[in-house]
Amino acid sequence: MKYIFVLIMLVFFFSACNDTPKSSEVETEDTTSLKPVFKSTIFNEDNAFEYVKAQVDFGPRVPGTPAHTTCHAYYTKHFKALADTVYFQNSTARTFDNTLIPIKNIIASFNPTASKRIILAAHWDTRPFADQDTKDQNKPILGANDGASGVGVLMEIANVLKENKIDIGIDIILFDSEDWGDNSGKVEDSYCLGSQYWAKNPHVPNYKADFGILLDMVGAPNAMFGYESYSLNDAREYLTIIWDAAANAGYGSYFRNSPRGYVLDDHYYVMKYTGIPMVDIIDFDPTTSSQFGKYWHTHNDNMDMIDKKTLKAVGQTVLNVIYNY
Ligand SMILES: [Zn+2]
Repeated sequence: MKYIFVLIMLVFFFSACNDTPKSSEVETEDTTSLKPVFKSTIFNEDNAFEYVKAQVDFGPRVPGTPAHTTCHAYYTKHFKALADTVYFQNSTARTFDNTLIPIKNIIASFNPTASKRIILAAHWDTRPFADQDTKDQNKPILGANDGASGVGVLMEIANVLKENKIDIGIDIILFDSEDWGDNSGKVEDSYCLGSQYWAKNPHVPNYKADFGILLDMVGAPNAMFGYESYSLNDAREYLTIIWDAAANAGYGSYFRNSPRGYVLDDHYYVMKYTGIPMVDIIDFDPTTSSQFGKYWHTHNDNMDMIDKKTLKAVGQTVLNVIYNY
């Protein structure tokens, strides 16, 4: 994804309304509104960690490489065993540096005929270069956090969905070819090629969902997630639901009530072309110019950048949102 330099206006009113975790509301509200399945939907961070590691063990998942093909087969086996229907979208795209690459999006649907639906998404490809590193800039990165972490969380959520019936529809979407983008600012829309394709050609005609949640770099130790600005502007209702769920579950140290800049990530194109509101849960480091962690687009994005506690905070928050929606 690409970050955008914008002077952020602090949203004082919004922050003031949301600074206090609303745990007391949960205790006092009518508990019959919490579905009984709620307590059994426990997110297993050990499983998620193993799923992240398995992807990293394939090596960089750069579109068009053998590791990309092998990892695709790994996802196929996993989701076919768990989801009601798995859709495969295959296309090609030309990157900003004039490389023709395959696009392989995977959509794992639960309750595919339900009209009330939520999208849970992450990108599965990894960047073919390490332009933010000081060495080996032309070699691909492992993408443990930038790629594998979001998918690892979604793979474990699929396990929970298989074991705990949910009334609404869930579409787990793995977007391909997110990270082969241009950072010079010369080429528009060079990132997020897989989500741009899906948003213009959804896997079923007239596809609709209530909203979506995008997971990107969700495994770093002591990660912080702020209000990404496109999400705040165009999906505020759902951002509030997610952040309240995190606070109620005790994960307020990860889900901060802090605005951050605009990030041109997969959710931007989903909102632009389908109108479906989508929230980006993405690593936020206010001390760097990119607002991403120092490992971002470097060879340090390896398994050292994955902490089970962070995977748990994100995975459990998402489960609490979807089973109570
Ligand atoms: Zn990236």
